[in-house]
Amino acid sequence: MSAYKVLTEQAAQISDILNAISVLTWDARTQMPPGGAETRGQQLATLSSLAHERLTGEPLRGALESAEQEISAGDTVQQRTLQHVREAVDLYERLPPALTAELAHLKTVSQGVWQEARRGADFSLFAPYLERMVGLNRQLAEAVGYREHPYDALLAQYEPGMTARKLQDLFSYLKAGILPLLEKIRSSNQEPRQDFLTRNFPESEQRAFNLRLAEGFGYDLSRGRLDTSAHPFEISFTRQDVRITTRYDRHFLPMSLFGTLHEVGHALYEQGVAPELTRTALTSDFSGLYAVGGASYGLHESQSRLWENLVGRSRAFWQRHFPELQGMFPEQLGDVDAETFYRAVNRVSPSLIRVEADEVTYNLHIMLRAELELGLLDGTLKVSDLPEAWNAKYEEYMGLTPPDAATGVLQDIHWSAGLFGSFPTYTVGNVMASQFFEAAKVQVPDLTHALAAGDYAPLRTWLTENIYRHGRTYTPQELLERATGRSLDVAPYLAYLDDKYGDLYA
Ligand code: ZN
Repeated sequence: MSAYKVLTEQAAQISDILNAISVLTWDARTQMPPGGAETRGQQLATLSSLAHERLTGEPLRGALESAEQEISAGDTVQQRTLQHVREAVDLYERLPPALTAELAHLKTVSQGVWQEARRGADFSLFAPYLERMVGLNRQLAEAVGYREHPYDALLAQYEPGMTARKLQDLFSYLKAGILPLLEKIRSSNQEPRQDFLTRNFPESEQRAFNLRLAEGFGYDLSRGRLDTSAHPFEISFTRQDVRITTRYDRHFLPMSLFGTLHEVGHALYEQGVAPELTRTALTSDFSGLYAVGGASYGLHESQSRLWENLVGRSRAFWQRHFPELQGMFPEQLGDVDAETFYRAVNRVSPSLIRVEADEVTYNLHIMLRAELELGLLDGTLKVSDLPEAWNAKYEEYMGLTPPDAATGVLQDIHWSAGLFGSFPTYTVGNVMASQFFEAAKVQVPDLTHALAAGDYAPLRTWLTENIYRHGRTYTPQELLERATGRSLDVAPYLAYLDDKYGDLYA
């Protein structure tokens, strides 16, 4: 047997372990009774260390070294497979086991402390844990290595190729476009009607409607399912089983609706990966020990946001689907028309809470978090000064001051879970989404007409061909350049926001 074949068989088994971790994770977040938490934690830890042992063990290293001598220069899949495995092996060699263990322990403890601190709106309770978390993440950055800024090493876990410098450039372009737009919206007199969104919408009907839209987009339910969870997510155990969740509020229709469309976007990506990449290093994040078919967090997010926002919050979409929604809820929506509904679900309103933000203000929430993370990591911002810095940025970007730490600096779980460098992928995703959508409109004949007619196959086919089927074979930059002819570019995104909200807010 060739060394490459030996290596791919080992990679397939590691991929099986990572997918099993995902099954247990899905269960813990949708079905498991609270009593199962402790032993489930142990099961997950055992499987993670098994995957880690396989990745760092002698058999895999030996096969990797032989395969590196053996493979031909022309085969991209083979080359990229070896590259992914090599990167993971080298990464684990650089990480001191004591640091990894300390981080894992601190994550568990500090999430509990964060919950308590948020309940009491008391930052001082969480501050010492955050201090340690920042310190350990700085050590992590040193161990992983970086060229310019410690944040580069953390960003690379989620968005390979992204750096602090590129991010700051991206942010300054975005702010130059978004802040004046927001100012114009705030000074316009338009106040779209929204009263009907909070009427009584029974959960079973919401679910039926969401599923109909999901299937319309092309979500294959013979390889998927929709469940309920406290926080919506998508998770896959190979392309053959890609699951999503949503949450319902009987008195707020948009929550489950757009939550579902968002997760469907993630799911289409995973279901669209080429079958031959199943159980390979190109549908697993070996460095993060996570089973995922998408090229990066930002690229994945570009797909959820493309389907949720660029398609699902468009005027054409609601002209097409509002009559169906109204048919399902004749009493609740009897006095509303498609245009009124479209305006309601696109209302811009600066708020303190990121997860409730509209398309215009969403990136401001992300940028200020990323800017604070940068300061914490390079030491220019002290943890003790964080609440004040947080409030100052909310005032600067959105003209709002949080009344307490719970709605301010304590609102997101990310920092207590040790996630530094993941927030920016949401904004990178927004920017990429518009870039891909613009390219699709140029390259697919009559795409606009197809979308207006509720035919989503042409768009999905283009995305599958250009993005989904490749899994992790190409980097995010390569996928962008191959599909759109350009590297990351904010222009299509800013043009989209200007067009849409210029029209909505006159
Ligand atoms: Zn998402």
